[in-house]
Amino acid sequence: MTDLQKEKIRSLRMQGVSYLKIGGILGVPDNTVRSFCRQCGLGEEAKNTCCCKQCGKLIKIIPKRKPKIFCSDECRAEWWNTHPENVQRKAVYHFTCAYCGKPFTAYGNKGRKYCCHQCYIADRFGSDRHE
Ligand SMILES: [Zn+2]
Ligand SMILES: [Zn+2]
Repeated sequence: MTDLQKEKIRSLRMQGVSYLKIGGILGVPDNTVRSFCRQCGLGEEAKNTCCCKQCGKLIKIIPKRKPKIFCSDECRAEWWNTHPENVQRKAVYHFTCAYCGKPFTAYGNKGRKYCCHQCYIADRFGSDRHE
């Protein structure tokens, strides 16, 4: 098996995917998947654990409770610190103002054309309508 396949097995196993399914996905015999998982401590006992998203440490999943993503508050804080882009729930769109040509960004709004209301008014009604 290649390192990539091993890596895939690890991550699929962490999601609780069965040996058979992993074998099917990667084109590896499920017996091979099984023995690899056993070697790496990813056997049956790994079913009720998941990996800390930050440090990779195994976390026990408590049945009927929401699985944890981080092993500790420190890891959670650290992860958010290193992934500030994920803090923004809404997508950021980049535009060029159709009136003044200034680049601007908008959150969660794909339909923006103008950087500000003034530009919208000016373009729509003409800036020289009072003259
Ligand atoms: Zn951790
Ligand atoms: Zn503008």
